[in-house]
Amino acid sequence: MLDRYIEIQPIVYKILKNAVSKDKYSHAYLFETNGFYDSYNFIISFVKALLCPKKMTDSEHCNDCYQCHIIDSGNFPEIKIIEPDGLWIKKDQLIELQNEFNKKAVIGNKKIYIIKEADKLNKQAANSILKFLEEPEEGIIAILMTDNIYGILETIRSRCQIIKLKEDKNNYSVKDTLNKLSYILYKKEEIENEQKEKILKVLKFIKYYEQNHMDTILYMQKLWHDNIKNKNELEIAFEIMILYYKDILNYLSGRKIEIFNDFETELSEIANKNDIKTICNKLNILTEFKEKIKYNANTNLLMDKLIITLEGR
Ligand SMILES: [Zn+2]
Repeated sequence: MLDRYIEIQPIVYKILKNAVSKDKYSHAYLFETNGFYDSYNFIISFVKALLCPKKMTDSEHCNDCYQCHIIDSGNFPEIKIIEPDGLWIKKDQLIELQNEFNKKAVIGNKKIYIIKEADKLNKQAANSILKFLEEPEEGIIAILMTDNIYGILETIRSRCQIIKLKEDKNNYSVKDTLNKLSYILYKKEEIENEQKEKILKVLKFIKYYEQNHMDTILYMQKLWHDNIKNKNELEIAFEIMILYYKDILNYLSGRKIEIFNDFETELSEIANKNDIKTICNKLNILTEFKEKIKYNANTNLLMDKLIITLEGR
């Protein structure tokens, strides 16, 4: 699984693969994600390789290893994931973690915690992480993720091995998104018009949402569920939304529109109803929700929640 990233993240891959094969790992990693769209899955594949007794890196999981199976099911007791509760990661969340980690590992000999958006640790939470990092315990590995390394205390940074992910530029091209779309949806590339149709429907949804806000929920069936049929389509649709809002951000900050040049009029109308801060907020929310897709059985509910969160309720 980690081996999937040989070409996309060659340098980091080498470092982590080496750590896995020699079982020589740091107590704390700080991943600078640089907008790499698959950063979370990448980190999970590293974690999996660390925990698997066979150090599997080339396949999804080994068939007979209990660790791999239970990680896939999302119930591995020795992996804890912490993410902002609202705007911040709060001290309570870390106290809970510390209590959990005081117990001995049930499976294997390592415990791993992953802190998403580590730049959102509030002051008290950052201090309690710092304590954790100053007195590392055997077998406990901290993984911090951030897209904003300067939002992290220097004292925390200096205690982590910093892993810089390479930005995946391809992710920004429409062609790539289209290809991915055609591959995932149709398993071939000829049906360009249909691909376009899908993208247009996502843009139509955004336009409707930007005009009607909370009322979007009332028309979700027609606007969204009738067009987006499964999880793969949903992930692609989220990718399109993220790319679109990134271009709105480009427009607002006076940079070049990278992808949606053909839609400048519509894009500028939406941009003018927002400011940079609200667009950044929307991008954060969309990215968070995109990650939730995998773990959510009820995607209908997910879209309602998305609108409610975007509306700040
Ligand atoms: Zn395994």
